[in-house]
Amino acid sequence: MDEEVISKYLKAGDIAWRVKQFLYSYIKPGMKLLELANTTENMIRELGGEPAFPINISINSIAAHKTPLLDEVDSAITEDDVVKIDIGVHVDGYIADTAITLCYNDKLNNLVEASKEALEKSLKVINEGVRFSAVGKVIEETAKKYGFKPIRNLGGHSLDRYVIHAGDVIPNYGDVMQLGKFRRGMAYAIEPFISTGNGYVVEGSEVSIYALSKTKFKGLTTQEAHVVNYILSRFKTLPFCERWFSELGFSLNNLRILLNSLKLKNMLREYPVLIESLPKAYISQFEETVLITSKEVIITTNPTF
Ligand code: MN
Ligand code: MN
Repeated sequence: MDEEVISKYLKAGDIAWRVKQFLYSYIKPGMKLLELANTTENMIRELGGEPAFPINISINSIAAHKTPLLDEVDSAITEDDVVKIDIGVHVDGYIADTAITLCYNDKLNNLVEASKEALEKSLKVINEGVRFSAVGKVIEETAKKYGFKPIRNLGGHSLDRYVIHAGDVIPNYGDVMQLGKFRRGMAYAIEPFISTGNGYVVEGSEVSIYALSKTKFKGLTTQEAHVVNYILSRFKTLPFCERWFSELGFSLNNLRILLNSLKLKNMLREYPVLIESLPKAYISQFEETVLITSKEVIITTNPTF
């Protein structure tokens, strides 16, 4: 991994860190989700990065893959909510992936503490040659210590240029079948999700996040090809959302018709919202990005480690 690549990973991580610090003081109950999303993503751009995926604002039993839709004008954070904010920043395709949980329900402070502690303890064991399952074991043991469950079908992952899930899976439980090991010259996102419920998420019906599923196409209308070319030039194969098309000037209705017809032509991959399989359960999540260079292990998204 050359110095230029490392410096881009570090810059993305630094932007993500500064955005997180801002969010801790900025987010309050009553805040509208659309305002929160637009403010956060604009801050990423102003600091010299690009969002690597739409901000995920996942409340209570929702684990991930929820970003505000353009017509969700009334959705807001309420008193008692457990709010996961997951942001991605990339600099020239090199990604920082990081998440925090904000809790406005005092009865759930332990749940938040559990995922925070699980992440802190996992980061301490990571080094070249350490098995992924060692991280999973720490996460599972920490969740159990607090009386909760880790979410078994979500996990950390390796990162690559313009690729968020680059192949390796770092389990959130002590998976003895997982033989993979951390390697030098790689970046990884570690993300314990901890739940008061079953520790298992299912797909909901709502979709607010998409990605291009192929980069070559034929049989598209002029407008569809225009949208696909816009996606390719702006987001490549990274995830995107309907909020990111404002400069094309489509009405929301026309934009949704176009995205739907691209979906029917197998041009788009959808990311359905992920929800705890136990209704009314609560989930917390923290995430940091780790870079293993030939010299050291760097937590790119948090200089306090
Ligand atoms: Mn993330
Ligand atoms: Mn991630």
